[in-house]
Amino acid sequence: MTDKKGFEVQLEEHFLAGAPAIYIQSAEEARVDELLIRLKQKLQLKRIHEWNLGYGWVGFDNKQPLSNLESSKTELEHALLALLDADLEQSLIVIKGARLALEHNTLAVARLKQLLNSIERHHAGECSVILVSEAVCIPPPIEAQVTLLPLPLPSRAEIKALLAEVEARGQLLVPDHLSDLAVSGLSGLTYSEMAQLLRMVGRQTTTLDEQSLNTILHEKEQIIVKSGVLEMVRVDAGVSDIGGLENLKQWLEQRSTIIRRLDEATRQGVKTPKGVLIAGMPGCGKSLTAKVAAGLFQLPLLRLDIGSLLGKYVGESEHNMRRALSMAETVSPCILWVDELEKAFVGMGGGNASEVTARLLGYFLTWMQEKTGAVFVIATANDITALPPELLRKGRFDEIFYVGFPNPVEREKILGIHLGKSGQHVADLQMDELVNLCRDYCGADIENSINEAVATAFIHGGALTQKHLKDAIGSTIPLRETLREQVAKYEDLFEKLKLRPASEYQGLSVAQMIKMAADPNHVKREEVARNPDCPGDQLERLSKDAQRSVAEAVYANPRCPEHVLSIRLNVRKGQPLYDPAMFKLACLNGNAPQDLLIRLIDEDVLDDDLRTSLAACAKGEALQTKLAGDRLASVAAGLIFNPSLLPRVRAKLLEDGKSSIKQAFAKHPELPESEQLLLLTNASAALKATLSKHPRLSAAIQMRLAQDPEQEVRVKLASNPILSREVQQVLAGDLRYPVRRSLSENPGLSLDESHKLKLKKDVMENRHRW
Ligand code: ATP
Repeated sequence: MTDKKGFEVQLEEHFLAGAPAIYIQSAEEARVDELLIRLKQKLQLKRIHEWNLGYGWVGFDNKQPLSNLESSKTELEHALLALLDADLEQSLIVIKGARLALEHNTLAVARLKQLLNSIERHHAGECSVILVSEAVCIPPPIEAQVTLLPLPLPSRAEIKALLAEVEARGQLLVPDHLSDLAVSGLSGLTYSEMAQLLRMVGRQTTTLDEQSLNTILHEKEQIIVKSGVLEMVRVDAGVSDIGGLENLKQWLEQRSTIIRRLDEATRQGVKTPKGVLIAGMPGCGKSLTAKVAAGLFQLPLLRLDIGSLLGKYVGESEHNMRRALSMAETVSPCILWVDELEKAFVGMGGGNASEVTARLLGYFLTWMQEKTGAVFVIATANDITALPPELLRKGRFDEIFYVGFPNPVEREKILGIHLGKSGQHVADLQMDELVNLCRDYCGADIENSINEAVATAFIHGGALTQKHLKDAIGSTIPLRETLREQVAKYEDLFEKLKLRPASEYQGLSVAQMIKMAADPNHVKREEVARNPDCPGDQLERLSKDAQRSVAEAVYANPRCPEHVLSIRLNVRKGQPLYDPAMFKLACLNGNAPQDLLIRLIDEDVLDDDLRTSLAACAKGEALQTKLAGDRLASVAAGLIFNPSLLPRVRAKLLEDGKSSIKQAFAKHPELPESEQLLLLTNASAALKATLSKHPRLSAAIQMRLAQDPEQEVRVKLASNPILSREVQQVLAGDLRYPVRRSLSENPGLSLDESHKLKLKKDVMENRHRW
C-alpha cells in the first residue's frame, strides 16, 4: 500500500526512532542505494557498510570486495563476525539479498540477532541494519526488531523528475503536451525498467511523439505481463456491445461520471468509488462488462488473475498480491479487474492453504478499505459459494450485481449485436423465433451459434438464412444444460442473497420461477406455467399438476417442450387420461411434433374444428401441405390467414382453383399484384366483385376491373376508397346509375370539384328513375 507519507521520510523516522533493522522490500537495488546516500547526507552519517550475497563485504560506493575472496569466507554468518569490533556509530549496515541470506540459515539469523541487540543497547537512533530484498523473509527470532518498509514503485512526481533528468542529459526531449501521458505511460514500472525503456525510445527518436508513446505502452504491457501478476488488457468494446444488463450499465455510467471528474467530485465531498463485484453465470458478459467499463471510464484496464498469484513458497502469494496491488496503485487512475475472485479463496476450508488464503483475503480487504488512489476494482466471480461472507458484506464493494441468463429482450439484443458484428441484416430474419430458440443460452452460447451459422453459410456459398441460424442454435448445447446442477445451485444462492440484478426487471428470474413452481398456491404455479421463459424441466413437472388450470397453462405455453406435448397427444379418446381441452391445446402448440400431427390427421383423430384452428397456426411445410389438401374449405381459409404460411404452400393453394379458396385469398389483406392477377384469370363475377374491394388493389388491376362488363363488379369497385383518380374518372363516365351512386358515396373520391358536383347532381336527379 502506498503510504501517505513519503518513503524517505518514513525511512528517516524509523532510523531516528531507533529501529535496529529496517527491511526494505524492493528489487531496485540502485534506487535503494540512492535513498541511502540521501539519508546518509541528510543525517550526516559516517559510513555505510554493505554486504551482498556474491562478494560479502563490498565498498558501498564502488561495490568492490573488501577482502580477498580466495581466502576469506563471505557468507553472512561469517561476515557478521567482522562487525564485532567495527565502529557502528552513525552508520548503516546494508544487507542485500536478505531473503536468500537468512532463509534456512539459523547461524546467520542468530548472529544478526546479536548485532541487533547490540544496536538496540548501544547505538539506537544512530545505526540500523538495512535488509534489502524483493521478497520478504523475516525469521521469527528477529521479527520484533525488524520494521518492514515496502518501497513503492516510483510516484508520478518521481517519474516527472526522471523525465526531466533524461531531458537535461539530452537523451530525449519530452514536449509539454505529452508530459502527462508519458508519466501515465511509465507509471507502474521500476526505475530501471523506466530508464531502460527511455533509453530504447531515445535511440529511435530525439523528441517524444505519439508513436514513441505507443512504443512505451507496448513495452509496458510486456513488462507488466512479465511481472506475472497483472496483465494489461487492450479495450475495444463499447457500451453498445453489451446486450441488456441495463441496471449494471447504468450504474457504471454513473460511477464513470465521478471517476472522470474525480477532483471536482472529491471537493464536493463525494467518496471515491471503490468498485463493484459482478457475480453470476459463466458466459453472460461479466468480463465483457469489465472491458466496457474501462472504455467508459477512459482508464487503462489491468487484469489480475488471482489463480496466478498463488505461489508455492511461504509468503509468495501475499508478496504477489502486494506487488499486484501496488502496481495497480502506481498505474492509477485505472481499473483493476480481479478475474475469478473465488479462486483465491478455494482453500478456505482448512489446512495450510486456508491460512494463505485467509491472509490474502485480509490483505485484500484492508487494501479495499484503505486505498486512496483511484483504482476502481471490478471483481468477477462465477461461484460465489466459494467467497467468504466478509467479501459479500455491504461496504466492501460499492455494489454487488448478479448477472443471470439473458431474458428474451436481452437475447434479442445480443442476437442483434453479434449478427451486426458478422455484417448480417437482422431485418431479413424472424427474430422472435430465434429469441425463443435460444431460451436457455448465455451470451457466449448465442455468439457461438451465430459464428457457426455464418461459417456454414459461407461454406455453402450462400447468404445467411433463418435456417442456418436455427440449425446452429439447435446443435449448440447451451451452458445451462451442461452445467445444469451448478447453475441451479448458483441461481438458488443468488436468489437467497438478494443480490442486485444486473438486468432490468423483465418478469420473473429463473430462480424465482423454480421456487414458485413448487408453491402451494396454484395461482403462483399457474403464473410460472404461463411464463414463456420457464425452464423446460419445470414445465414438464407442472404438466402433471393436479390443478387443471396449471396443466392447461403448460400446454398453452409457447415454450412447452415437444416431448411433453407428445405425451398428451398420444392419449386418445376413450383412454383414462384423455382430456379434450388439453388435447386441443397440445395440438395447437407450435412445438407439437409435425409428424405426430400428420399421423393424427391421417387417422382422422382431429375433428373439423381442430383442423381449421390448426390450419390457422400450423408452422412446418409438411403439416401445412397436408392441411392444404384438406377437403374442408374452412381449413384452406384458415391456412390462407396463417401468418406463417410458407410461400410454396400458398402458391399450391392458389393453383388449386377451388372457388372457396379463391374467395378467401381475395379477402386476404396481404395480396401482392402477382396474386391479384392470378385470381383475375378466368375469375367469376363474384370473385371479381370481392377482389374489387381489396384495400391493396394495384392501379393496373383497378383499371381492368373498371372496364369489366359486369355491373356488379364496377359497383363494388366504385366504392373502394383507394382508387386512383384515373380509375375514378373512368367510372364517372359510366352511365349506369348504381355505379355512379356508389362512386359518389366513395369516401376517397378525389375528382376535381366541378366533376364531383356534376356527379353528385346527376345521382340526385336520377335517383327516382332507379
Ligand atoms: P466467464 O465467467 O466464463 O468468464 P463471463 O460472464 O465473463 O464468463 P464473457 O467472457 O463476458 O462472460 O462472455 C463471453 C462472450 O460472450 C463475450 O465476449 C461476448 O462476445 C458474449 N456475450 C456474453 N454476454 C453478452 C451480452 N450480454 N451481450 C453481448 N455479448 C455477450
